[in-house]
Amino acid sequence: MRRNYFTLFLAAGLFILLIVLGVLQYRWQTEISDSEAQRMHKLAQEYAGRFSEDFNKEIQNAYFNFDVGADDWSAANYHPFVDRYEFWRAKTAYPGLISEFYFFNAEGKNAPLKFDAEEKTFTPVEWSPELKEIYSRTQDQKNFRAVNEDIYTLILPEHESPQRVEHIILRRSPAMVKLGEQKEPDIPPALEMPKTYGYLVMRLDEGVIRDKILPDLAAKYFDDNDYRISVTTSDGKPVYETANLKGVPDAQSSLFELSPNDVYFFANRDLANSLTEHKESGTMTSHIENRTMTRSVSNTSQGTVQVEIQNGGQQKTRVFTTTGDSPEGRWTLSAQHSAGSIDAYIANTKYRNLAGGFGILGLLGLSAGAIMFSAQRAKAYAQRQIDFVSSVSHEFRTPLAVIYSAGENLADGVTNDPSQTARYGELIKGEGRKLSAMVEQILEFAGASSGKRKLSLRPASVAEIVSDAIAECRPLLDAQNVELENDADVSLPTVNADHAALSRAIQNLITNSIKYRDGSSWVRVSARNGDGKVKISVEDRGIGISKDELGQIFEPFYRAKSVVDAQIHGNGLGLSIVKQIVEAHGGHVTAESEPGVGSKFTIELPCN
Ligand code: ADP
Repeated sequence: MRRNYFTLFLAAGLFILLIVLGVLQYRWQTEISDSEAQRMHKLAQEYAGRFSEDFNKEIQNAYFNFDVGADDWSAANYHPFVDRYEFWRAKTAYPGLISEFYFFNAEGKNAPLKFDAEEKTFTPVEWSPELKEIYSRTQDQKNFRAVNEDIYTLILPEHESPQRVEHIILRRSPAMVKLGEQKEPDIPPALEMPKTYGYLVMRLDEGVIRDKILPDLAAKYFDDNDYRISVTTSDGKPVYETANLKGVPDAQSSLFELSPNDVYFFANRDLANSLTEHKESGTMTSHIENRTMTRSVSNTSQGTVQVEIQNGGQQKTRVFTTTGDSPEGRWTLSAQHSAGSIDAYIANTKYRNLAGGFGILGLLGLSAGAIMFSAQRAKAYAQRQIDFVSSVSHEFRTPLAVIYSAGENLADGVTNDPSQTARYGELIKGEGRKLSAMVEQILEFAGASSGKRKLSLRPASVAEIVSDAIAECRPLLDAQNVELENDADVSLPTVNADHAALSRAIQNLITNSIKYRDGSSWVRVSARNGDGKVKISVEDRGIGISKDELGQIFEPFYRAKSVVDAQIHGNGLGLSIVKQIVEAHGGHVTAESEPGVGSKFTIELPCN
């Protein structure tokens, strides 16, 4: 009993442990998933940012590089421009990005000039409709935009710059118009812009952007096919996409942003190095000694960028970036995880991991249960074997005692009467037969269990086998005054059987019916044909078997508790031998029973 409680406690403990592990695993998995989602969001945003930064730098590099100043344009001195053109072509990974350069005067006087890359000079051309359109855009100073991505054009104003601030693009302080208010800016410009002398127009090659730069960047930052990438214009038209994005993107950033943060790289090539080294202040060139640069985006949609440039004690303040450009950029890069979103991907992964984890826990629980179950069975089996040894010893003791005392009497010459001597002889013979029958049964079980017994199957008549079995049981039937009804159909087809073995199986069933008949004196053996099978039944009106035990009676050594308590002799092997024999014939044996009413055992064999 104590052991049973121990097993129960162990099972309950294990169950609780598994539940706790399951809950912990769920919590841990949730925490891991949350932080992984955060990490992936951050990473996606970072990569989208770098993608934009690289793209913008490419545009900015081109844009700011070509600011040569009005003096050279007015003097038709194209050497500085050609130098910069060659410098840019040598540095850039996409020399095809700018397909054409034009220059025209701010007042629209004279014919526009077109850059001839071979001759390294600008030559006059006609006012084409596109150039006219570009020119008209430059005339609307309020809405002037450096980036005209809709027509793939950059427009660089060339100012009549003051002498000592060369090569830096200046612009008016951007309008500090509060969102929603349409009034004129109330903050005065940091500095009046120098007069615009003319405009350098850079025509961008749409194909290079679409087919080279964007795919290159997509491959560089989102190479693993985990993300769908799309680039759309400000009115939502797709420019480039690796796959169709549905729903909310995981990360976004702006393209075509001439961000002031990056401006110092491009102010001009002489300044670039020193500016990168001294981000906040420092000597930049022989012309410009100090600068500070701040950017504020406060409550406006446009940024204010101030560049303070000092030359000796004299301070010049300039506003430094592209005219009127909003820092938000003009195209939008969107990245979305191929699972629909990072959150969806993380949720999928989480459920997959949880399923795996719970699967392992479940398996653990099942194996522990299976181990407990088989340990329990092994224990019960061992107990049954012990019971078997004691009951067999008990069974042996009675006939041995009878034989011993009969022999002793004979040896002591207790009787000289020949009829008495003959009775002793009969007694010894009877008990000896019982003993050898018991030994036979045990040997039979052992032989069958070790697989040593071989049946010799040949076509046999069922009725004959049944009557043989009854004949074998006849002495016992007579001794117990039991009437046996033989209801075997003589016209049954033959079955493939080992005559002796099948007869022994039927004898075992008849012996049980006699043993457990409970005062009744009726046993019936019948053999019928049905569903292509021969059914041999042994029926009695004995003590019957309870429902719980009906499933176990064919197990070796099993004996019902009631028969053990009632001290009915037996070793628990009879039915397991019947089962072995019947199954060796390709058939099976079943039992129906009701306690106090009787039992019916049926052997079903395939017929020829
Ligand atoms: P044994 O009869 O030696 O105990 P068996 O293997 O022949 O072993 O039978 C197993 C158990 O099945 C018996 O102990 C008994 O409880 C039950 N049993 C078998 N036959 C009958 C029957 N005809 N009536 C009632 N109980 C039976």
